[in-house]
Amino acid sequence: MLRVRINRPGPVRQKAELVLGLLADAIGIRLSVVAADAANEDDADLCYSAVRPKSSKQLWLPAVDFDWSVVSTDVQEINRVPFIGGILSKEGDAVIRGDILYGTWLMVTGAFESGQDRNRFGVPLARGSFAYENGLVAQPVVNRYASILSTLIVERLGSRYSPVDRWPNGARGAIVLSHDVDRPFSRPTAEHYHQRVSRDIRNLRVRATLRGLGGYVKNVLAQGDSGAQTHRDPNFGFDGWREFENGIGSKSAFYVAVRHAAEDGALWEEVNYNFRHPKLLGQLRHLAEDGWEIGLHASIACRSEPGRFELERRILAEAVGSPVRGLRHHYWALDSTRPEATLRAHAEAGFEYDSSLGFNDAPAFRRGVAFPFNPIDPHRMEALPILQIPPTVMDGGIFFNVSNQAEGEFELRRHIDQVIAVGGAVVFNWHLEQQNPGRLMGAGQALMNVLRD
Ligand SMILES: [Zn+2]
Repeated sequence: MLRVRINRPGPVRQKAELVLGLLADAIGIRLSVVAADAANEDDADLCYSAVRPKSSKQLWLPAVDFDWSVVSTDVQEINRVPFIGGILSKEGDAVIRGDILYGTWLMVTGAFESGQDRNRFGVPLARGSFAYENGLVAQPVVNRYASILSTLIVERLGSRYSPVDRWPNGARGAIVLSHDVDRPFSRPTAEHYHQRVSRDIRNLRVRATLRGLGGYVKNVLAQGDSGAQTHRDPNFGFDGWREFENGIGSKSAFYVAVRHAAEDGALWEEVNYNFRHPKLLGQLRHLAEDGWEIGLHASIACRSEPGRFELERRILAEAVGSPVRGLRHHYWALDSTRPEATLRAHAEAGFEYDSSLGFNDAPAFRRGVAFPFNPIDPHRMEALPILQIPPTVMDGGIFFNVSNQAEGEFELRRHIDQVIAVGGAVVFNWHLEQQNPGRLMGAGQALMNVLRD
């Protein structure tokens, strides 16, 4: 057990303890914080303080000398590691030259998100933000802090502290593949329009009724009912992913929505398929039986009606016939200002993990973290009892910003190399329907090419 002394006032101390818990998990070394009033200066291996400790036996973790409620915009890099709050030690005084605990706190609690532009679902935009431009979310900065802390401990304190490997079997990193199910059918089915138009007539919504009828004519009458033709629908990509993943030894997760846009009171941006469609539900049961994961694609409105989480989880689990342990939100729409409140609701609804806390406009690291972690709720000052598997890249995050498939593949390779270099987990969200080669410049094929290499 490695002992850490925190020579900072109470409010900082409490936050530092939470951050040390997260970093200890990240580096696989047990850390204990010595009591604030412990008299013996030599009772610790590491000392977190604003001035260099007198005892030469202690390794110094430099601390900013102000309260952590201040969000510093002084970001300075040494060896490509950005330190928030500036450089705090002279060269030679400390191995780690800035405050990695304060930096981790700001990143993990999303301190830079408050002033950030958001999309209409409340997800902050990475591109153009202060954190992105200053290298804080364009790379997994917390992974970097963890790496330099681990190196310091192992090099200076030697064999007393042998870290537990982050990944099994000597792996350098992890690649996590997952698929949101947004458009399993190229066009909404006749049943969808029937339900939607009936609802709008009942509610005397004339314009919505006409829009629904227009959609019915265009997508069903003129095309033939895609619902009856799913075996030929290129968006119905289950078999394609299954075949590809069998080839690389992977069984991924599919996140499926149980509330759709034609239901009473549903937002029009919810999905427009009914997961109980016999072909779809049959496929999901089949996948679950074969050991693939079926998770919940939580509806957008869930975040403002927390009781929904448990309901949606139960509906899906009962229909598919297997437990539902994890979720990702449609449009990644966690609460826009306090996502931790939504994550807490997940835990209370019995989920073991969420995978929504990311940026979907660029390959980036919303909380600076590229490994599963327990998020910290800064309002309640505690680590949440639910794992976050932070998504690091979505299909559109790359392919809305490139002009052809080859460029997309280049960006994909760069992202993977960047994450594996810091021992991280690349978490892909590649929508089910990207098996359709006509969609998004061949994003599906691009991912398969890259992962086969
Ligand atoms: Zn979605």
